[in-house]
Amino acid sequence: MSRFHIVADTHTHTIASAHAYSTITENAAAAKQAGHRFLACTDHTGIMSPVSGMWYFENMRILPDELCGVYLLRGCEANVLDSTGALDVSERTLAGLEWVIASMHPPVFPPQDPDAHTAAWLGVVKNPHVDVIGHCGDERFRCDYEALVRACAENGKIIEINSHSLSSRPGSDKNCKEVALLCKHFGNPIVVSSDAHFSASIGEFDDALRMLEEIDFPEELILNADFDRFAAVVKKLCPRERTFMSAAQEAENQK
Ligand SMILES: [Zn+2]
Ligand SMILES: [Zn+2]
Repeated sequence: MSRFHIVADTHTHTIASAHAYSTITENAAAAKQAGHRFLACTDHTGIMSPVSGMWYFENMRILPDELCGVYLLRGCEANVLDSTGALDVSERTLAGLEWVIASMHPPVFPPQDPDAHTAAWLGVVKNPHVDVIGHCGDERFRCDYEALVRACAENGKIIEINSHSLSSRPGSDKNCKEVALLCKHFGNPIVVSSDAHFSASIGEFDDALRMLEEIDFPEELILNADFDRFAAVVKKLCPRERTFMSAAQEAENQK
């Protein structure tokens, strides 16, 4: 049992990603089952999904704020296109979303050299619509991690420790540890995520939490390890007003 209690899975996929296998309702039910209070639905964009498109993301507004007892965050996992840090989603679409992750994927941005990857991230952090830097520990996209962590601190971007990366993206374990140590050193906030492509994987954070425990990572820097902390961050990032009730408040209201 980890000493960290995670309240939100901040990186999950549905069948709209085309290579993922659960619906948003199945994911929300799994999040509830895992004891979470929030679920960020972050399907792939552009060529990473032949299914989702502009209308998929812009129409997410019709979804309820709360689904199966968890607060839903309408998001996406946008692709970094090149070393300028340009993304494959329009500003208009990004502006309507509540949780935007930017990630590098080889089919979209063929890995180059570390300088090009660093330059790309330094471009991404300037994008006001981006909230989270996705799985930056991927060895294929090795970069100057100190430059990235410092730039995230300066531009208010959240670094994700993607638990799925630790087991599935070769070389990620040592890179993610390096990134986490830099975040600890510079005081950068992070989130822990599963990158689930199937509902049963929602809340699978064990590898990431074990690594964070190993390096004695400060709990207060893990944004999604506390309800109030995470709710405050989301309220700030959401383009419209959202209200979140803690479990204690909910219980009080039901009396
Ligand atoms: Zn990804
Ligand atoms: Zn993903």
